[in-house]
Amino acid sequence: MTSAKPTWESIRHNSQCLLKPARYILDSLRQSGDAALVQRGMPRMLLIKCPCGCGDTLVINLDQRLGHAWRMYSRDQSLTLFPSYWRDDGCKSHFILWKNRIYWCDWDDDSIWVNSNDIEKRVLEALPHQYINYEKLAEQLQEIPWDVLQACHALTRKALAEMNHSRRKGEFRRIAKPASKAGQLLED
Ligand SMILES: [Zn+2]
Repeated sequence: MTSAKPTWESIRHNSQCLLKPARYILDSLRQSGDAALVQRGMPRMLLIKCPCGCGDTLVINLDQRLGHAWRMYSRDQSLTLFPSYWRDDGCKSHFILWKNRIYWCDWDDDSIWVNSNDIEKRVLEALPHQYINYEKLAEQLQEIPWDVLQACHALTRKALAEMNHSRRKGEFRRIAKPASKAGQLLED
């Protein structure tokens, strides 16, 4: 890697991932973050001009029959990939594509992720008292895993949920409601 990786600050205002017409694919990918979806009956691959600015085109497999594949969510005219994309050669970019935005994975304050109250409410309602992995919960709710993960973090900050620190990452549970005052009085 010859140039320094852009910091979040320098890229946050132009880190949209824009889907270009796939007809003349390589021609249409001009700027960092330009993307083209290759479909043959179903989404086969996503090509992205690397958002780091190195100029390489990333080929992201979406076809599970060809081995490791990313899941792509296309909702409200925005693109999301799950899990994160980690390039182990070249520029070593590691990022999350969530709702057309690139989030670099070396940047770990999650407070900028914008969540709707609606998803937080749904996640809280569905969150069991036993730990559950957020991906599994997302599957149950038919939601994008990143949305559910961010909702879990937000609920944790509000002390309505907690993360499992002792085991695998990515597990959350609803915090048991504190005993009612009446119950406490009885125990006292
Ligand atoms: Zn790159």
